[in-house]
Amino acid sequence: MSFKNKMQFERGELITESDLKSFFNCKYSYFLRKNLGTSKAPVSAFASMALFFQQERKKIFQMIRDKTLRDPERMDMNELNENFPFRDAYAWSGWLQGRWNHAIKGEKFHGREIRWAFNGQGYRSGQNLKDAVVNYWSFVLENGAPILGTINLPMSVYFEGIPLKVKFPEIRRGGIIDDPNPWGFRTDFDRKDGTIDESAFVTFRILALCEILRNGMKEDNYFLFEKLGIDDDVINDLETMIISPKIKYRHYNAKKDILLETSRDDSHLEKLRGKFESFFEGKLKRDYPVNHGHCGSCQYNVLGNDGKAICPSIKKGTRLLVPEVYFKKRKFRININKSEGEIYLLGKVREDEFVDREIAEYSLSYVIGSEIVAQSSYDCSLRGMGYEEKMIERGYRELKFIAEVQSKVLKHEVDFKDFDFAGKKKIKKKLLDLGYDEIDKDTFLLSYDPLPF
Ligand code: SF4
Repeated sequence: MSFKNKMQFERGELITESDLKSFFNCKYSYFLRKNLGTSKAPVSAFASMALFFQQERKKIFQMIRDKTLRDPERMDMNELNENFPFRDAYAWSGWLQGRWNHAIKGEKFHGREIRWAFNGQGYRSGQNLKDAVVNYWSFVLENGAPILGTINLPMSVYFEGIPLKVKFPEIRRGGIIDDPNPWGFRTDFDRKDGTIDESAFVTFRILALCEILRNGMKEDNYFLFEKLGIDDDVINDLETMIISPKIKYRHYNAKKDILLETSRDDSHLEKLRGKFESFFEGKLKRDYPVNHGHCGSCQYNVLGNDGKAICPSIKKGTRLLVPEVYFKKRKFRININKSEGEIYLLGKVREDEFVDREIAEYSLSYVIGSEIVAQSSYDCSLRGMGYEEKMIERGYRELKFIAEVQSKVLKHEVDFKDFDFAGKKKIKKKLLDLGYDEIDKDTFLLSYDPLPF
């Protein structure tokens, strides 16, 4: 099927940046995106933070606009400084940290539950945001304010018959697309691919701006050119080229104060067309294989409201993002059921007054003869968060108690494979501390004599 026919096939469907990103990171995530949607799913703290940073940037320029009734993008450094609504950037950062703490209070962001990567991430992300806005304000004083209406501006455009939806993070006068972020550049379709100079995603955004400007030229409408401060050289370019090399794209890592800059020309289009080509091919085949290389940074790598990972095909052992309560020791409890020859431990996290989530099981069985011989099996839906060590210690204490009551030697063999993907280094240390011996890489053995003398 020709490329044109594929376009026909998909006609009418608007292709978004997020569609392309999820498709090239993991085709299965694209499938989930189209079938599950994302509006109700819990959201990662990283995504919430990026959105918050973007909203606060927009807010500050809106405040300047409301105060002066003038467009901030037309102000010079002194005017911006004079009309800045705070004493200085540090005052802004303190205010913003308070707003962030308020925004994440109740573990929700814009009505969606937040999922965290580590304990204390809420506080750390607040500090990161503070650093980011202080640097960002210096960047603004040096480079001018973005054009107010362009912060996170979504626009639709056709390219060679393909309807595309693009979002510009910021546009500055002169036709500079700026992407300020609280972290480094990872803006390609495939997050593990490409620097800013190679990224087809950057080509995509520059191309979209060029197409929007060209449409204005076709209609003899130069309002946007004036608004964006586009100079005549770009107009000349767009008469003969698809992409004007004078349109700049910059990524600003606001946390580290690192600015990267690039531009594109028509030679970069081939790679982008190749991306569209594989996107349509994959969609035609309805072929959405998983790419486990991206599970760690995937939006579906979060604990859903049912206590399971949102993605059912997530790579085993991927550290899930979880509600903050999962990091609190006192919220983890172990229930014990005992019967003859069996001890069953059930690890639960108390999410709130209504929900006790069962997340770990440790079954121990033993036979009492001349000595006590025990075996065990372990399973946990949230591996590597430290629950393993607690369960092992509790199981050990229960078995030891039986050995003491019976006054018999206890032998307990642990199948270490049960703890795959659970941070085996720490678990090994725990087993050794408790007196287990490492027999081979998959086996630990406890020999406990309650009456050693
Ligand atoms: S969690 Fe992994 S397998 Fe699932 S959609 Fe994301 S990247 Fe793909």
